[in-house]
Amino acid sequence: MVRRADLHHARPPRSADLAAPSVALVVVAHPDDAEFQCGGTLAKWARQGTRLHHLVLTDGSKGTWDAAADPTALATTRRAEQRRAAELLGGGEVTFLDQVDGELHSTVPLRDEVARVIRQVRPDVILGHDPWTRYRLHPDHAAAGRLCVEGIVAARDPFFARHLLAEGLDPYRPDALLLFEPDVADHAETFTQEDLDRKVAALLAHESQHETTHLHHSRSGDGDDPYESFRRREHDLAAAAGAWADAPFAEAFHLIDDQL
Ligand SMILES: [Zn+2]
Repeated sequence: MVRRADLHHARPPRSADLAAPSVALVVVAHPDDAEFQCGGTLAKWARQGTRLHHLVLTDGSKGTWDAAADPTALATTRRAEQRRAAELLGGGEVTFLDQVDGELHSTVPLRDEVARVIRQVRPDVILGHDPWTRYRLHPDHAAAGRLCVEGIVAARDPFFARHLLAEGLDPYRPDALLLFEPDVADHAETFTQEDLDRKVAALLAHESQHETTHLHHSRSGDGDDPYESFRRREHDLAAAAGAWADAPFAEAFHLIDDQL
């Protein structure tokens, strides 16, 4: 998520609005990360004809504060919610790697699984967590960022993941990597009110997360409708990034396109 403090101190974006890719792949730790971090951008691209593909690395089974919850049932619920959210953003496939939530690590076998999906999907643009963002607590977000970056290298270089060649999956190099929740924001993707509305609708499709995430952070304590507060919060965050990019609404990224 774009934090206002980041934008306050950031220089103007170095660039904005990549050409809408033919295919985009978003690599995230948990169900709902993509919607929070880049839902407006994905909705815009889907509207412009981009084929979207989601890769969710963990099963989301720790996404509750209810100590009596059934983690297996929660993982099943969150899969269905993620598929529904992807539909609301404009369609696209969702692949789940089903790693245990909260215990994600960048390992060679898992990096190769990310590379497999990249070689299968052949995206022009990949979006993922910035693995170098400071002061972030959740271990999965840093690990998912590393897996995304290292998965790109393994997908690209012919002597990585040699077993994929035998499966007919040739090396593949994307054009651009957009890192969200960036340590240094330098690129903006701008979007419309319609795209923002689709982002919020997709976020709200994650019903199991309303109590712990969506509404928890939105309660103002003054008796407001928490759903209305949530919509206003998402609006204000997108508008703050928009002001940074001189547009109504935006999301902030760190763009890597010269080292791919
Ligand atoms: Zn997450």
